[in-house]
Amino acid sequence: MSLKAIENAIDNQKLICPKCKAPVKNYEKYAETIDAVRDGFNVQEIDSHGERVTLICNNSGCDWKERTEYPMQYVID
Ligand SMILES: [Zn+2]
Repeated sequence: MSLKAIENAIDNQKLICPKCKAPVKNYEKYAETIDAVRDGFNVQEIDSHGERVTLICNNSGCDWKERTEYPMQYVID
């Protein structure tokens, strides 16, 4: 699971918003270093989550946003 896979899923419109059921249009990678500092002793586990992202639906009329370590749960096949 990599950031590239998330990009591909969004490009191929396979990453579906659970609220409006339309393909999610954007994502943001969020800063792992900041999380690592905040979570302290849990640093090693956090380092393994290179795919932590905020998914942003961005379809009109939908304000769904989800910060997740498991973005692939929203990908359909
Ligand atoms: Zn949506």
